[in-house]
Amino acid sequence: MKIIDGKVHRFVELIVYGCQMNVSDAERMAGQLASIGYEPTEAMGEADLILINTCCVRESAEDRVYGKIGEIKHLKEQNPALIFGITGCMAQKEGEALIRRAPHIDFVLGTNKVHELTHVVQEIEAERGHVVDVQFAETELPEGMPVARQNKFSVWVPIMYGCNNFCTYCIVPYVRGRERSRRPEEVVAEVREAVRQGAKEVTLLGQNVNSYGKDHKRADFADLLKMVDEVPGIERVRFMTSHPKDLSDKLIETIRAGKHICEHIHLPVQHGSNRILRAMHRIYTVEDYRALVARIRAALPTVSLTTDLIVGFPGETEEDFSELLAFLREIRYDSAYTFLYSKRSGTPAATMDGQVPEKVKHERLERLMAVQDAISREKNEALLGTEAEVLVEGPSKHDAAVWNGRTRTNKLVLFPHGEEQPGDLVRVKITQPQTWVLKGERL
Ligand code: SF4
Repeated sequence: MKIIDGKVHRFVELIVYGCQMNVSDAERMAGQLASIGYEPTEAMGEADLILINTCCVRESAEDRVYGKIGEIKHLKEQNPALIFGITGCMAQKEGEALIRRAPHIDFVLGTNKVHELTHVVQEIEAERGHVVDVQFAETELPEGMPVARQNKFSVWVPIMYGCNNFCTYCIVPYVRGRERSRRPEEVVAEVREAVRQGAKEVTLLGQNVNSYGKDHKRADFADLLKMVDEVPGIERVRFMTSHPKDLSDKLIETIRAGKHICEHIHLPVQHGSNRILRAMHRIYTVEDYRALVARIRAALPTVSLTTDLIVGFPGETEEDFSELLAFLREIRYDSAYTFLYSKRSGTPAATMDGQVPEKVKHERLERLMAVQDAISREKNEALLGTEAEVLVEGPSKHDAAVWNGRTRTNKLVLFPHGEEQPGDLVRVKITQPQTWVLKGERL
């Protein structure tokens, strides 16, 4: 707390781990805290409230959170008035156990309780007790929460929470509950407001956006995408993540017919062996996926496809891995996020037979990355001399004289700084394609 010009200022440091859904939740937390007078700070020593929005998808992420919790103990000893809370997936999974392990934590709030944050903080400010709330309520999704967005031009709008799929390696259904879709009018209202405040690009967010609306049946994902595409002033519409089993022909046609829907689909395949896909409980086969990609590419010839891949899932043999490499060479993704399988306690895969030794996993990951990098490079090299529309994001991390931005196909572009500003849409000629970025010149 600081007193500046006779006015009391209180500060919050919000530490975020994990996926884009966690970042989006954190923007809603920051918005709520701003409504009760907390200003953001990155200086831990200055904070009156420290909040860690946690991720437990990987055990290593959980270890990092415990490390951070340990660090904050010293701050709390120096400043007993400091309020310290844990939110997110790990809060949901561990609940009270977190406070038993680290009693300097004041509150633990589950993934379904983001909207209770101000109430809980005010309760602790008044009474200084512990609060743990990780119940999954069956009530309507809370709406109208203030949002403090990190980026004004490119915004994330959650359209649903939770997941019903129970892939055997994934903790998400256990910590984020079953699928609950926001009402289409609420999503569209949030998009309209974001555009009114200057957003050019909106990314609709969910663990599996293609099953949007299966609960309330007011609109399916294709309907919602069309409504968002029609919001006046919007320039680009994106979405993630798509489960291959639910991506309908209606959705492909909606993307094709849309004006602002970007030609990029992130379509996690996870593996290229039917045996492993079955063990992962992915519900599609390599053949289903291949046919889906053919339908997408027939309708959207300029689409970029990206994916997620897991190497070293329990029981993966050298033959399964070879099938994965062959599948990559066949599909030719623009890029892929590659992960080593890591055991997640509480998931079925953690206790499966045939856990793959770490050394083998690492060696396979390197081979996989070499194959994918070569494909990404070839695909980018094919863009030499072409022109692309780029949404300017800001200065490059490595060189302030260079802007970075993204094409509609979600490729990162670097080009020398001109008169343009972040949020502008500009034309860029690709002059130096590389594996991860396209370098170019403003037209
Ligand atoms: S679809 Fe599978 S991997 Fe994705 S969140 Fe749901 S359970 Fe996890």
